This record gives sequence, C-alpha cells and structure tokens, in this order.
Amino acid sequence: MVLNRSSRLANDIRRLYFQQIKSLGEEELYIPQASEIFMTLEDLYNKTKNCAECPLCESRTNYVFGAGNPKADLMLIGEAPGRDEDLKGEPFVGRAGQLLDKILKSVNFEREEVYIANILKCRPPNNRDPQPDEVEHCLPILNKQIDLIKPRIILCMGRIAVQYLLGEKGSLTKIREKDYEYKGIRVFVTYHPAALLRSAQYKRPTWEDVKRLRRYYLKIMNMPDEKLD
Ligand code: SF4
Repeated sequence: MVLNRSSRLANDIRRLYFQQIKSLGEEELYIPQASEIFMTLEDLYNKTKNCAECPLCESRTNYVFGAGNPKADLMLIGEAPGRDEDLKGEPFVGRAGQLLDKILKSVNFEREEVYIANILKCRPPNNRDPQPDEVEHCLPILNKQIDLIKPRIILCMGRIAVQYLLGEKGSLTKIREKDYEYKGIRVFVTYHPAALLRSAQYKRPTWEDVKRLRRYYLKIMNMPDEKLD
C-alpha cells in the first residue's frame, strides 16, 4: 500500500507518541489510525451511508446524514428523519424544516451557516419514537460529526435529543431553563419545531430560547449586541 504524505506524517506521530507512552510505563493504549486523524465529514458520510447496524436500514428510503456548514459554530440536533426527510435524504426539509428556517432567521442565523443533524439517521416507521437499541447503534455517528465540526454551541431540539444527549427525561418546560454541556460544548434546549406545528403554545418559549442562545453566541464571538425583540 502506498501511503500519501499526510498518512506517513500521521504514522510518524503515532509511532513517536507510542514510544513516549511506553517509556512512561503504559503498555496498553488506544492509538488512532491515520484515517481517523484526517477524517472529514465527507469521509464519515461515505463510511456510514450504507449503515446496517440496526433494523431501520431495511425500511429507510434514504440515509439522512446531516447538512450544513461543516465548520459551523452552531449545531442543531433533532430526533430522526420524518417522511419528507426520508424521501429527500436531507434533514428538516418538510413543514418543520420551513418553520425551523423561520426560527433561525428570527434571531439572525441563516440555515447555511449552521449544521443540522438528528439523533437517528434513518426514519423510524410511522415516525414512532427511536428505540434505545437503535440510538445505541446510531449515536456514534452523531458523536463523530460533533467531533469533526467542533461547534461552539449545540441546540437540542425536542425531548428525544435531550434524553439521549443529556440524559434528561423530565418536562422540557423545566429542562430548557437549565445550562448543559455535551463533550465540553455549551448546550441549549428547546422544543422540536414539529411540536410547535402541533401546539402554538410552544412558539413563545422557543423564541425566548433561541434569543438566549443568540445573545450567548454574540458574546462568545465578540460581536455587538443585536435588537432581538
Ligand atoms: S438508524 Fe443509524 S444505526 Fe440504524 S441503520 Fe440507520 S444509520 Fe445505521
């Protein structure tokens, strides 16, 4: 096998790292492969697009990996693809997606500048809740996306994302008021846009959540305050 320059460099780094750790007395350690060190989102997509780790691979029309800016400061995480997303192979393209665009715009974010993904990459039949074993098999893909994108902020949308990312199962009304971190990244919580389509009562609190997120974003990016009312 012919190694390119980056692979040779990665192998040299691994070898040196291994020698140093060994000299400190550690015999067992995990050494990442060159392909992992230099992995891109596209590599991850190609590696996982034919995933058959859980039974949802049999009923899906398309694998819905995620979409958006691969260097996004803000990453949005929802539940799972619905019917429109399954048909198109893109997240949040149906009515909930159109509403999400409006919510983002209301606090001066464009969809193109954020990255959007779901807990599950394949549609559960009839939009039922994701099952714990499906999430167990699928979550490593999302975790790797987060590692590659390295967002400064995550917005968890809906109880399923909150349950599996933050381990919280209570009422979103209370959870969304708390501060969270995931993988050292600040996490905000709000309702899933599909919930807003079902119950208009969630619109006001969702808007309050994204305004709070926007203010935090402006602060950490050293950007001037904006009028958000
Ligand atoms: S839901 Fe996730 S784990 Fe299951 S087949 Fe699809 S990509 Fe694989």
